Order: sequence, then structure tokens, then C-alpha cells
Amino acid sequence: MLYLVEHFYSIQGEGKYTGVPSLFFRFGGCNMRCEGFGCIETLADGRELVGCDTLYAVDKQAFGAQWQAIEKVERLLEIFKSYTVPEDVDIVFTGGEPLLHANNPVFIAFVEYFIANHHRVTFETNSAVAIDFEQYPVYKSCIYALSVKLSNSGEPYSKRVCPEIFNSIITHADETFFKFTVDAKSLQSGLQDEIDAIISLAHKTDVTCMPKGGSKDEVESNTEAVIEYCKAKGFRYSDRLHIRIWDQNKGV
Ligand code: SF4
Repeated sequence: MLYLVEHFYSIQGEGKYTGVPSLFFRFGGCNMRCEGFGCIETLADGRELVGCDTLYAVDKQAFGAQWQAIEKVERLLEIFKSYTVPEDVDIVFTGGEPLLHANNPVFIAFVEYFIANHHRVTFETNSAVAIDFEQYPVYKSCIYALSVKLSNSGEPYSKRVCPEIFNSIITHADETFFKFTVDAKSLQSGLQDEIDAIISLAHKTDVTCMPKGGSKDEVESNTEAVIEYCKAKGFRYSDRLHIRIWDQNKGV
């Protein structure tokens, strides 16, 4: 089943297309949890859950009741058409991990609609879910922000670093770029080596780094160190505009 967590029209807050007006579709479910990111969600019963800044799109048990089950592509198109947006507005598929739904016929039909209508479609992916490009060639026409998780995510290496998968995406897709989430403390304890090692396993593509943080304060505390790191390595720095502007608010 395909679950839509939220949809909203905003500007892209991070990555290569920062600042571009984009319509976001956030789908539910993820193959990771990333407790290392340390964002806390407090449930109605007072329980505290730890994960990434989109834990509400990751943990089906805790938040699934708020997700919308989608059975037909017509429902997704109805949502899209309810927006007043530029004709060729950028579309961003995010999550959770949106590619968990890559084989779902409803999801594929939704992607096909946008590609056929000349939208730029970007997937924000953890790069650990394989795509069958031969069976579903529409995915070749998309852009992939390859957000390979680092050790600061708290996920095990074998789960988060999957060269066969990210190299298949780099090889087949129209456009890709790595998007690493970096924090000042980890930079002091060897995160650079981790990033270098991942890049050494990958086919050539652009590299973008952005400061870790689920809140404005945390993003600010990591910004300068990440900028200095990008300057030293020649990587593109990406801010996290949506967090800097709207802090911990969702759906923006
Ligand atoms: S892979 Fe992304 S969406 Fe999934 S838990 Fe990690 S940061 Fe969150």
C-alpha cells in the first residue's frame, strides 16, 4: 500500500535546487530510522521517540494513523490539481524513503504523469533502495539527491552504504548528486574519511554537503564547520533553508 504523509508547495530547502519553488509529496515508510540524528517526537501519551527530523514519515506504528492510504493514481492527481502552481513546477518526492514505493503501479503512474508533462522530478533518497531502470524506464528521466547516510545517522555501514545501488542510479539517471548531512563534531572525528571512502566507491557525480540539524539552532551550530569543509574539498555547500526559516514546523 502507498501512503502519503503530506503534500505542500514551498521552495526547495536543501540540495542543488535550493530556492526553487517545488511541490512536495512526502510518502510514508523508511528502511532506516537514523536515531543518530537525535530528533525527538513526543507522542500524545507522553512517550518520546528518537529518529530523524521526518520521524513522522518513518514510524508507521506511531504515526501511520495520520497517513493517507492511496489506492489510485487519480487520487494523487486530484491532489496535484488542487494546487495553483506554475505549469511545469518542480516536483519533489520525499519521505521517509520514497523509493520503497518504486515498484508500486500507482506510484509509477504518478511519476510517469509528471515526466510526460515536462516537470522536473527529484527523488530525495537514502540511496539504499534499488530501482529497476529496465522495467521502469521512467525513473531514468528523474533527478536523484543521493543522501547516503554517514555514521552520524547511527545506522550500520552495511545498511547505509550500498555502492551497487547508488552506482546504478548514477549510471542510469539523467542527473544525480550526493547530499551528505554533516556536523561539526563528526568532522573532528573522521567524517571526512567516511565521505572520501564513499566517493571513492562511486561513479563520478556532484557532491553537496549540508549542516546536520532538525532545528534552527542546531543547523546554525554546524554551518560554519560545513562551509569550511566544503571550501577545503571543493564541494557545494547547501543550506537547510526550510529549517533556518521555519525551524521545526512541518509541511513547509
Ligand atoms: S533514511 Fe532519511 S527518512 Fe529514513 S530515517 Fe534516515 S533520515 Fe529519516
